[in-house]
Amino acid sequence: MIQFDKVNKWYGEHHVLTDIDLHVNKGEVVVVCGPSGSGKSTMIRTINRLEEIQQGTITVNGQDVHARGVNINHLRQGIGFVFQQFNLFPHMSAIDNVMYAPVQIQKQSKAQARALAEQLLERVGLAHKADAYPGSLSGGQQQRVAIARALALKPPVMLFDEPTSALDPEMVGEVLQVMKSLARDGMTMICVTHEMGFAREVSDRVVFMDAGKIIEVDTPDAFFSNPKHPRAQKFLADVV
Ligand code: ADP
Ligand code: MG
Repeated sequence: MIQFDKVNKWYGEHHVLTDIDLHVNKGEVVVVCGPSGSGKSTMIRTINRLEEIQQGTITVNGQDVHARGVNINHLRQGIGFVFQQFNLFPHMSAIDNVMYAPVQIQKQSKAQARALAEQLLERVGLAHKADAYPGSLSGGQQQRVAIARALALKPPVMLFDEPTSALDPEMVGEVLQVMKSLARDGMTMICVTHEMGFAREVSDRVVFMDAGKIIEVDTPDAFFSNPKHPRAQKFLADVV
């Protein structure tokens, strides 16, 4: 479903992604972890072309996403992306945030988009907040609306970049719960997160990055019980 082949990226002189190879199958949940600055965000942002690459190929659902002539808007409609900062439209209610892309981009009727948005808000446990504005919602609630919004175009793939890092600790669980339910329903997901409990419980594979390279890919059992690389060992000793 998502395939990196020998992907390299530089910011000027800085080699920020080195020979990234990664294949993610349909329905797989992959957690990406590693120290700050190791290239995790850059790597997942290359998948929907929030970042360009200089070498290698990335395909999503068979499409070479960095090929010339790719319609970036169309590409992004098939890839749900959830950011650390929720980036909701502040002047729109929760349900209007969720309806926005189906109405504006897919030209669905408002009635149809509203029905879907109601379902999605229900799914993230926020049916009762449909008419609330982001400013009146907690961080955890805003992030759940952001997930509903990302799901509104029915993407086959969802990417998460530290979706709980900006939240107060008591709100982390409600967001992870929604992510777990998506995983159980068979969504293909790449999640950059330091929530090692989530990785252990939900992921199929854990990818550990350091200094722009993938240096370990393992099942969660193997990664947590017996990390091979010294830098992975040190990372786990620091975060767990
Ligand atoms: P992570 O998400 O693992 O913390 P990032 O992907 O954000 O890491 O960053 C990887 C490296 O690339 C870091 O050294 C960071 O400083 C650098 N970097 C990130 N974005 C830019 C940019 N727009 N311009 C130049 N350097 C950048
Ligand atoms: Mg990051």
